[in-house]
Amino acid sequence: MTFHIITIFPHIFDSYFSESIIKRAQNKKIIKIKTYDLRTWAAGRHKQVDDRPFGGGAGMVLMAEPIIKALRAFKFQMTIPSTLDKFQKNSKIKNLKSKIILLSAKGKKFSQTMAERYAKLDDIILICGRYEGVDERVKKFADEEISIGDYVLTGGEIPAMAIVDSITRLLPGALGNAESIKFESHSQTGILEHPHYTRPEELKIGDKIYKVPKILLSGDHKKIEGWRKLKSKKV
Ligand code: SAM
Repeated sequence: MTFHIITIFPHIFDSYFSESIIKRAQNKKIIKIKTYDLRTWAAGRHKQVDDRPFGGGAGMVLMAEPIIKALRAFKFQMTIPSTLDKFQKNSKIKNLKSKIILLSAKGKKFSQTMAERYAKLDDIILICGRYEGVDERVKKFADEEISIGDYVLTGGEIPAMAIVDSITRLLPGALGNAESIKFESHSQTGILEHPHYTRPEELKIGDKIYKVPKILLSGDHKKIEGWRKLKSKKV
């Protein structure tokens, strides 16, 4: 799977993507992450990517043209030729194997179910907005407008990282232990995972002692399984 991230701050991703599971997934060629500086497709000497909003108001808006030019450029980089044909015909990639996602606080709420669906794709293009957002006409070129929650962030870069991360850990071979993702929170609709404990058995903080539930130390796997089921929460 290849993630293509369009941003005006490509270096924001360097640190997060060069550690831990995401780093290993890239090394093992399970994923590729490509970040693109939107200014590459900006016109003029100043490489302008934003402008004032029509109708007035605070802040700046990311211009549609550089983003659409970037999307068009991707047609040469994607792994599936049919995707490219679709892009040429509809100015929108509708192929099942790829998606263009516009990150927006106004979008559909991202979920584990969506991460599972996206994990079957070959290419995901993530458009990171900034300032007041993106010229509304970009929506016509995106397949989905996605929000990671009901709050406003400064830019789409953190949402892009969240989406890349949640999808990557679902891909075969990405996690050390594939069992980890089988019974996680949200892997079954409406269920949150049971609590975890590790050493020490007794944790002394000040004059208080915090103990591990006895059943987890019993070695009785059936009972532990039952306890874990009981402690899994419904949302
Ligand atoms: N003026 C916009 C509004 O009220 O909806 C907020 C713009 S926000 C400061 C700038 C960019 O950050 C957005 O275009 C989007 O790409 C990204 N962003 C902010 N919050 C987000 C969220 N909850 N989910 C996804 N993207 C978000």
